[in-house]
Amino acid sequence: MERDITKKYTNGEVTIVWKPTLCQHSKICWTELREVFDPFVKPWIRPEGAETERIVAQVKKCPSGALSYYMNKDKDD
Ligand code: SF4
Repeated sequence: MERDITKKYTNGEVTIVWKPTLCQHSKICWTELREVFDPFVKPWIRPEGAETERIVAQVKKCPSGALSYYMNKDKDD
């Protein structure tokens, strides 16, 4: 049975949302922005590795929906 796992990583400004069960291992994220996405280290997502703008642009390229994001200010109540 597939479990719905969601992990979150934030740099204080943007939050990267990671759903590993959706990942198709296209490698796009970690070949294009290794400063943030590196599957060979733990944790594999380091949101402090690049500016928010670059993170958002990269997350948008994820073809599977495994990576998504929200801006922290939009979550403030
Ligand atoms: S871009 Fe998306 S589908 Fe491709 S490896 Fe990264 S998380 Fe997985």
